[in-house]
Amino acid sequence: MRLFLSLFLILLLFNCKAQNNIIESKVEAILTQGNDRPKLVVGVVVDQMRYDYLTRFNNKFSEGGFKRLINEGFYCKNNHYNYVPTYTGPGHTSIYTGTTPKYHGIIGNNWYDKDIKETVYCAGDSTVQSVGTLSKAGQMSPHRMVSTTFADENRLFTQLQGKTIGVSLKDRGAILPAGHTANAAYWFNGRDEGSFISSTYYMSDLPKWVNDFNDSDAAEKYLKVWNTLYNIETYTESGTDLNDYESGFRGKETASFPYDLNALKTDNYGFDILKSTPYGNSIVADFAIAAIDGEQLGQDDIADVLTVSFSSTDYVGHNFGVNSKEIEDTYIRLDKDLERFLIALDAKIGKGNYTLFLTSDHGAVHVPAYLQSVKIPSGYIDSATFKNDVETFLTNRFEVPGLLENVSNNQIFLNKKLINDFKLDLKEIEEALVDELITFENIYKVYTANTMQTTSFTTGVEELLQNGYNQKRSGDVIMVYDPAVISYGKKGSTHGSALNYDTHVPLLFFGKGIKKGSTLTKTVITDIAPTMSALLGISFPNAATGKPLEFVID
Ligand code: ZN
Ligand code: ZN
Repeated sequence: MRLFLSLFLILLLFNCKAQNNIIESKVEAILTQGNDRPKLVVGVVVDQMRYDYLTRFNNKFSEGGFKRLINEGFYCKNNHYNYVPTYTGPGHTSIYTGTTPKYHGIIGNNWYDKDIKETVYCAGDSTVQSVGTLSKAGQMSPHRMVSTTFADENRLFTQLQGKTIGVSLKDRGAILPAGHTANAAYWFNGRDEGSFISSTYYMSDLPKWVNDFNDSDAAEKYLKVWNTLYNIETYTESGTDLNDYESGFRGKETASFPYDLNALKTDNYGFDILKSTPYGNSIVADFAIAAIDGEQLGQDDIADVLTVSFSSTDYVGHNFGVNSKEIEDTYIRLDKDLERFLIALDAKIGKGNYTLFLTSDHGAVHVPAYLQSVKIPSGYIDSATFKNDVETFLTNRFEVPGLLENVSNNQIFLNKKLINDFKLDLKEIEEALVDELITFENIYKVYTANTMQTTSFTTGVEELLQNGYNQKRSGDVIMVYDPAVISYGKKGSTHGSALNYDTHVPLLFFGKGIKKGSTLTKTVITDIAPTMSALLGISFPNAATGKPLEFVID
């Protein structure tokens, strides 16, 4: 019996020791994981990048750009926006906050503010001043975004030791991703300046490296002749260069190559002309590379975040349409800029020391006029006529003029004061509008704010509407157009809908902690921030609704 007891005690002790070993190795694993964080996380957004650009232009890409990310990283082929409207401000915000306008509050690029009864800009902030320009182009901040980005969470986690820098041609493309706690956001100011600027939200003066960059011929050197990189005859993946669906530049009769940018700049707002050419992306790549040195990014074991947004792809798409030779050349050249950027990251941070993701803020539709020419149902809604028709209907029906206060982002805002003064019933007006608008040509669905607030949708366009609906900021009636119907000119492409051409965008992960592979499993844009948070071992952004993509993380 005594022997048995001793044996039992020995076994028990042995078991305890084994348990301790397990605990010790677990702690060690956590610590190593701590040391295993990337030195730098790079978020790349390509503005208005449709999913099929990766596949359409594939044989034109080099091995070191998009293809390198695909071959060495993880490729999510079925990645979608999960809300409407699919615009730049909400897109960039959703990528980095891991949530939708319902929570982060960026319901459009511009929206009608119900309280002050004025249209506001997503990044506009009159309480701060420009830095680096005498113009008002620097009066910007992220103050309208109400939730945190993963870059903010990284700042909190590292006791503000890990840096965040945002870079883009567009202010909103730099400011919203970088978040509230960013060390700096820099964006391009065109006109007669052609320089990168910021706001007093971040700093009182531009750092020396930014002044040095601006004082060099950084922008001037791109005011040259834009011709196709390769022989235009080989651009068989896009439509004819001369067609009826492109706007082009002022001062040039046809929207066809070549474009002499130096000659055209006076008629096209000076340096702003670069935005609508591939060189706008090149200058952003130049600046992002300069930022790595200038801001000492990724130089220690505390993870930094660099957000880069390439916007020229959006300007070119709006100007020339998604099927243009100009778009094809812009992507071929962006691929080269991307290759150059990756080489710089390898050299400055070290291969395998950084993690990068690449996605887009929305896609874009084929020019509807072109779709009509190939018999695909599509069309246009004239916003002035529409507004007029709604106004007339409301005045006739309720006998009070001025009930319609604003139409923006496919939402109707009603005048609550008049409704109260005349003792009208808001719900009755909303419902009357639904019944009326659904009879309009090219309108597919109409919902009231009340429906958005009282019904929980889990599928279809209704779910996307609800994810984009913010009770404090959104309108009283929400409309959905038919597929390929836009409120836009007859030349060039735009975006904003819940349809695949706008929601389906590339998603590529690459570098430290990322598996090699690809998937056709559906992922949503709000999954990116939780995935990066999981990789960094930090808290998710405070209002994140997405989930970490487990199959991406090594
Ligand atoms: Zn955009
Ligand atoms: Zn756009």
